[in-house]
Parts: sequence; structure tokens; C-alpha cells
Amino acid sequence: MVDVCIVGLGPVGAALANLLGLAGRSVLVLEREEATYHLPRAVHFDEEVMRLFETLGLADAIGQHTHVSPGMRFVDAAGQMLLEWPRPPGLGRMGWNSSYRFHQPDLERELRAGLARFPHVQVLNGVEATGLAQDADGVTVTHSGGVVRARYVVGCDGARSSVRRTIGEAPEDLGFGERWLVIDLILRRPMPELGDWSVQFCDPARSATYVRGTGMRRRWEIRLHAGEAPDEAQVWALLARWIGPEHADLERFAVYWFASVLAHPWRDGRLLIAGDAAHQTPPFLGQGMCTGMRDVANLAWKLDRVLAGLDPASLLDSYESERAEHARAYIALAVELGGLINTTASGGARPARMSSIQPQLGPGLAAGWDGLGRGVAPQPVLSDGRRLDAVVGYRMALLTGPDLALTDGQTRHLAARDSALVADGALVDWLREAGCIAVAMRPDRYILGAARDGDELARLIDQIS
Ligand SMILES: Cc1cc2nc3c(=O)[nH]c(=O)nc-3n(C[C@H](O)[C@H](O)[C@H](O)COP(=O)(O)OP(=O)(O)OC[C@H]3O[C@@H](n4cnc5c(N)ncnc54)[C@H](O)[C@@H]3O)c2cc1C
Repeated sequence: MVDVCIVGLGPVGAALANLLGLAGRSVLVLEREEATYHLPRAVHFDEEVMRLFETLGLADAIGQHTHVSPGMRFVDAAGQMLLEWPRPPGLGRMGWNSSYRFHQPDLERELRAGLARFPHVQVLNGVEATGLAQDADGVTVTHSGGVVRARYVVGCDGARSSVRRTIGEAPEDLGFGERWLVIDLILRRPMPELGDWSVQFCDPARSATYVRGTGMRRRWEIRLHAGEAPDEAQVWALLARWIGPEHADLERFAVYWFASVLAHPWRDGRLLIAGDAAHQTPPFLGQGMCTGMRDVANLAWKLDRVLAGLDPASLLDSYESERAEHARAYIALAVELGGLINTTASGGARPARMSSIQPQLGPGLAAGWDGLGRGVAPQPVLSDGRRLDAVVGYRMALLTGPDLALTDGQTRHLAARDSALVADGALVDWLREAGCIAVAMRPDRYILGAARDGDELARLIDQIS
């Protein structure tokens, strides 16, 4: 019996397998396809996702395939700027740049390569999960190569998830659904005139998106009218205002349905879903895969604790309650932007600049004082030059300034629970601004709770179990 069977080795399944591998869990991944999906889909991920790759020990390997993005502009049909979304230059509070461009097959290759570090993680390619039956002890997974038993199954099996269908209801439709043409080109020579910024061409007649990819890759996404199914010549005709076949090679073009859906429930006993299986968003914010990455960051350490017998299985209920509303916030903004891109009418009512949203987790786990909310803790460089997450590792941590004296009992309590204690001057400004003396940070780097005085600190430490 393996601890976890993951159905689907897309980016989300691969990240989950790495996290569970890091936690020492036995994992079997079933992937229907023989090899990584070779065509590009996602082109952007954010600082929180890069921080997850850092936790996985893969930030350098993945980082070499990225390009830092300056931001996104929205222009109307006449080329007038409607809205600008600049990304701050340099490293931000998470210790990473705010926005990265990448090529999804590069990322998936590195995530798969990362699995080779874990002998307890096995991948079966070319194997399709066909049936799931759960009982008190585990799940019997029938697949095209046989049968396996697992204590938990996570469906990372994409938009047409069969695990989701086994769990239950049809996903909630959040109101956006359109056919778009996605075109990937490889430039034959540099074309700086295209620019580094992503551009949303907000034109009711024909909305479109331009994205600078890595290296010589460039992406256009163009809204299709009813019944349109362009051939290659028509694709070039649609691109003619920006680029022609003399400038670039067509890597591929494909028609996608840009959906906006949120599934419920995300868990039924020993069956769970994550990534596109749980939600889909129009790609205008570049957050579909990022949302899935946040899912598995939230889920992996909870599964580990339940499997270790440290918490009851009900801990897993906090997975959907924390993640679903967070995912909904990103989908809702993407749907709103989709409305703006399809019509310039709402442009005048918006501010001229936009900034990244940082939704809070929905209700779930909490300890101590909750005044800091349920966001991600920052990652400073500590006094000895090391980064916070490198010192903490993949576990719970108590973060304080250097002058806070813990009792021997409190120090022993944290050590016995394999929780990190980081008492460092680099944390002082953040703690002071936040009005507290200590913060408990979860393995997914979200804030569990805080303490403003000694009594609250004692209670907070007690709750780190
Ligand atoms: C045009 C476009 C642009 C996008 N841009 C961005 C972006 O910039 N940023 C971003 O974050 N996201 C973006 N996305 C979304 C992103 O690509 C997806 O959210 C992401 O690929 C989902 O990953 P996943 O692992 O959940 O699912 P998938 O990548 O779909 O992987 C699911 C895997 O499960 C396997 N599988 C399915 N059923 C079974 C079964 N029964 N047995 C075994 N294996 C099975 C499949 O073969 C597949 O490999 C974009 C998407 C599109 C289409």
C-alpha cells in the first residue's frame, strides 16, 4: 500500500509528488501519456510559486528557464493605454521577482527530473487510472496496468478529471466561457519592437493578448467569433498587424475554450482533487497553474501529518475551506479582466494602474492572535546571509526577534515537534509593523497565527502540535 496515489503528472501532480517526496511519503503517480505534454500552455508564474519551487529545491533548475516580466498593459482598439499593471523590479517580500515568463514543457521536465531524488516516489507513464473504490483503510485504484492500493488518492488529472466525477457534483460555472485561438511563434531574429510587456488589446471587434515568452518564443491569444476555425493562412492573417511568416516560425496554433469553473467538493474521504481538476480560469491573469500549485502546497503537508498520525483525517477538510475562496478570488478577477478585454466600455471607470492581489485563505486552521490574517509570510534574508526558508526547511516554524526569550519548556516543545525556531534581527521590522512579537509559519509559508505578548506566545506555541 502506498501512502498517496496521484492521478496525473501535469505540473500540479508533479509538484505534489515532489512535496510528498520531500516529506518522505511513498507515492505512486499514474500518467496516461507516455511523455510530458510537449506544447506550451502556461507562460507565467508568480513569486509565491517560485518560492514553492525553492522549497522543492528546484528554484535554480527552473529559474534558468525563466524571464522576468516587467508587467502587463491594457490598450484600446486605437492603441490608447487603458490600464497598466507594472511589476516591481527586483526581489520582493517573498525573496523572488513578482512575475516570471516560462515555457511549460521546460517546467514540467524539471519537476519530473526532481522526482528522481526520491526512491519512494514511482511514476508509471502510459498508465490510465480507470476506477477508484475507497474503504475504511484505503483506496483501490484500478488502472490500465493493474491494481494498486493507496491510503489517499489525489486527482491532479486536469480539466476533464475523472477523480472529480467520482467525488461528485458538476463544477460551479463562474460566468466566463469563450473560444480563443492560441498561437505560439519562435522568432527568427530579435524583434524588440514587440516589447517585453504583455499587452491586452481590448477591442470588442477582436480582443487579443500578446505575451513575450522565454528566448525567442512569443505568444498571441486571439478571441474567435462563432463558427471560426482558422487554418494556417488565416492564423497569419490574424497576426498580420504584429508579425508575418517572414519573421517567425509557427510552433503551433490551437483553439481553447477559456472556462471559469470551481468544483465542490474537493474531498470525499480518501479522494481529493487539485489543480485544473478543482478549478479553471481564463488565462488573462496567468493564474491557472499557479492556483493549482497553491493547492498542492496547502495539501501536501496536511496529508503528511494525517498519514503520520499527528492529526485526524478531518485536518484535510481545511484544504478546500482554505483554498476554494482563494482560488475564486483569482478566477473572479480574471473574469472581470476578460470583460474589460472584450469591451473598452468599462475602461474609463477603472484606475489607470493595477497591482497584484493577495487574497487571504478561507476559514481553516488558526492559532494564537489572528490579526495578521491568513496570508503568506515574507521571506527576508537573515542576519547570517541565509534565506528564511532555507533555515526553516519543509516544516512549521516560530519566527521571532533575537531578544525574545523562550522558556526551556517552550524550546523543547518546538524541538519535539520538529518545528524550527528562527529568532533573528531581520524579522524585527516586520514583526513590529505587524504589532506582534512572534509568528507561527506553516510549511506552505502561510501564517498560522501570531502573538502580541507572553501569554499569547505561550498559547501559540502550545498550538504548534
Ligand atoms: C492557453 C493557455 C494559457 C495558459 N496560461 C497560463 C499561465 O500563464 N499561467 C498559469 O499559471 N496557468 C496558465 N494556464 C493554465 C495551465 O496550463 C493549467 O492550469 C495547468 O496546466 C493545469 O495543470 P494540472 O496539472 O492541474 O493539469 P494538466 O496539465 O491538464 O495535467 C493533467 C494530467 O493528468 C493526466 N490524466 C488525466 N486523466 C488521467 C487518468 N485517468 N489517468 C492518468 N492520467 C490522467 C493527463 O494526461 C495530464 O498529463 C494556461 C492554459 C492555457 C490553455
